[in-house]
Amino acid sequence: MPDDCIFCRIVRGGIPAKIVAESATCIAFRDVHPEAPVHVLVIPREHFASLNDVTNSQVMADMMQLAVDVARKESIAASGYRVVLNTNADGGQTVFHVHAHVLGGRHMKWPPG
Ligand code: 5GP
Ligand code: ZN
Repeated sequence: MPDDCIFCRIVRGGIPAKIVAESATCIAFRDVHPEAPVHVLVIPREHFASLNDVTNSQVMADMMQLAVDVARKESIAASGYRVVLNTNADGGQTVFHVHAHVLGGRHMKWPPG
């Protein structure tokens, strides 16, 4: 767990976050700058810098399962939601600990800008 990674610090409890759901391998917490009425980040407890670096496919499955759990918990599973993994510069990634954005509670435009 790199000391300078803010999401690793959230996993360790060193930075407060509004936790929405947890599993053995992942946690979900509210984005500090929400872009939608529901905006939750799902991350693995283990540090991987980006989607390119995930070596454990079970972790990705766990992230997707927790994303669905969050959507159900936040009552957006039926109305619909978007799961996004921004990757590296052109993908708009700013925090280099892989994370899935769960966005919903309003109509999500497509294509994204
Ligand atoms: P990215 O641009 O890397 O896909 O998304 C990073 C997300 O993390 C952004 O939406 C940003 O608002 C969120 N974020 C950055 N720092 C923190 C933090 O300390 N706490 C929380 N809850 N979210 C953060
Ligand atoms: Zn990290």
